[in-house]
Amino acid sequence: MERREFLKVSAGAGAAALFYLTGFGCSSRTGEARFVLPDLPYPADALEPHISERTVRLHYGKHHAGYVAKTRKGVKGTGYGSMDLTEIIRRAQGRSEATALYNNAAQAFNHNFYWHSLTPEGGGGKPTGVMNALLDRTFGSYDGFRRAFLSRAGSQFGSGWIWLVQEEDQVKITATSNADTPAAYGEVPLLTVDLWEHAYYLDYQNRRVDYVTACLDHLLNWNFAEKNLIGSPGSVTAA
Ligand code: MN
Repeated sequence: MERREFLKVSAGAGAAALFYLTGFGCSSRTGEARFVLPDLPYPADALEPHISERTVRLHYGKHHAGYVAKTRKGVKGTGYGSMDLTEIIRRAQGRSEATALYNNAAQAFNHNFYWHSLTPEGGGGKPTGVMNALLDRTFGSYDGFRRAFLSRAGSQFGSGWIWLVQEEDQVKITATSNADTPAAYGEVPLLTVDLWEHAYYLDYQNRRVDYVTACLDHLLNWNFAEKNLIGSPGSVTAA
């Protein structure tokens, strides 16, 4: 695809991303099935030894489940009740009266995205194909990406998330604080790693960079990242 063609596609990227993410979150359009905790994509012990079963059970069964339950309660009696998760996130962002709902809905989205960003099957290390080409384009090499990702994860102050996102025909690293999510701003998230202490403290205590290193080297799901791309940015010749 020519660069111009890709940019034409990417002009509608917000809508396309929303379409995809709407199907991704923990909601369907029908009644009581909305805002239920989605299944983990693998057994709770599948990420060992890098992330323990105990961590996954607490993280998924208490933290993630709690955000989903609070979202379900938070929409009751409001105009948000008929919306999908990502629509709630986009509309509630920045509204002071909806701060709690935004935080819980964003965390519900972020956690589901996180579980899918990791895989016990062939995860981590240098990707192949389009994702490898995109990392080369922005960071010069996979090692350049790895260094930048670890550096940004290590410097994030307090709780938050580190992301690989797509911006037109480029990828970039971004970090968000607390519950904040790129999905609120029409950005295209590709991968995320949870930087809240509950994601790693049982296994790594204060060694956050060791946890993120384990995710990078053994768990990141590059197939998931590639599926999240909008358009065909990997085929664009660098201008
Ligand atoms: Mn978490």
